[in-house]
Amino acid sequence: MDKKYDVDLSVVVPSYDEEESLKELTDWIDRVVSQTQYTYEVIIVDDGSSDNSWSVVEQLHKANPSILGIRFRRNYGKSAALSEGFKAARGKVVITMDADLQDSPDEIPELMRLILVDGYDMISGWKKIRHDPLSKTIPSKLFNAVVRKISKIKLHDFNCGLKAYRSDVIKTIEVYGEMHRYIPLLAKESGFKKIGEKVVTHYERKFGKSKFGIERTIKGFLDLLSVTFMSKFGKRPMHLFGALGTLMFFFGFIAAAWLGAKKLWFVFHHTNAPLVTSSPYFYLALVFMILGTQLFLTGFTAELVTRNAPDRNKYLISSTISAQQCN
Ligand code: UDP
Ligand code: MG
Repeated sequence: MDKKYDVDLSVVVPSYDEEESLKELTDWIDRVVSQTQYTYEVIIVDDGSSDNSWSVVEQLHKANPSILGIRFRRNYGKSAALSEGFKAARGKVVITMDADLQDSPDEIPELMRLILVDGYDMISGWKKIRHDPLSKTIPSKLFNAVVRKISKIKLHDFNCGLKAYRSDVIKTIEVYGEMHRYIPLLAKESGFKKIGEKVVTHYERKFGKSKFGIERTIKGFLDLLSVTFMSKFGKRPMHLFGALGTLMFFFGFIAAAWLGAKKLWFVFHHTNAPLVTSSPYFYLALVFMILGTQLFLTGFTAELVTRNAPDRNKYLISSTISAQQCN
């Protein structure tokens, strides 16, 4: 095993009120990984469960010290759980898996091979045959098509809970808010290009019920806008707001100039000039110029915010060659 890592594999399991599943899941992971030569740890992140999950985790750890746990004081959401799990993960490969037994630990050896032998940075699961209600699968198809188009990453199932990563990837990306749906995008933006997918077996939920409702689609799309905005203009907001603002102000100004010129023409030719306010262009000109100025000012404000951001000059460096120091 690589000396840099304490174990070969970390399995990170975000878990919210899943007490019935945890033992079966960890037994299954143990059964599968024990048949390989890999050392492993399972990190169960209890996302503020109100059931008995934590005492189950404690018992599991007593019986098998490879099973570790992190417990949130309250429910923060799946992204937060993944983020803490990633911080704690010591493995060379990190696999995430839902706690509800919908993802199959049988996929672990092949996922490990894809990362370690085939050299993928990340493999995303693809629930090709999916055991979920239509209310979930139809929005999901649409969602995936849009994300595929915007991100240009050729994956069928961005939001699959079962994913495998090279350690570097999860130590680099920052999963916050509800960004767990966009981990492949975050990885790509951080320069990890070898992203693949593997068809995985998906099971019906055995116990309890889904923790996400239909509102996930709306939140998902809003987050998609944020991710694309941040990746493109996060470090240079003025380029977006300034361009939009200038464009709007320009159209407003043209409309105002046209109205003014027309008025003057009427005045000089002693015809009965209509009031400028009687033209719809007057109002359009006003709105466009005000909005344009505001967009511009938003751009300046956003620049001030990014100037103060602690990571404004943080870049991801994968390797360096520097001069030997002689003393
Ligand atoms: N989950 C979590 N915190 C939450 C909601 C969900 O840790 O606030 C976990 C949940 O316990 C499960 C995984 O995230 O292990 C996926 O959730 P779920 O099965 O409800 O999602 P679905 O399968 O419906 O997409
Ligand atoms: Mg599930």
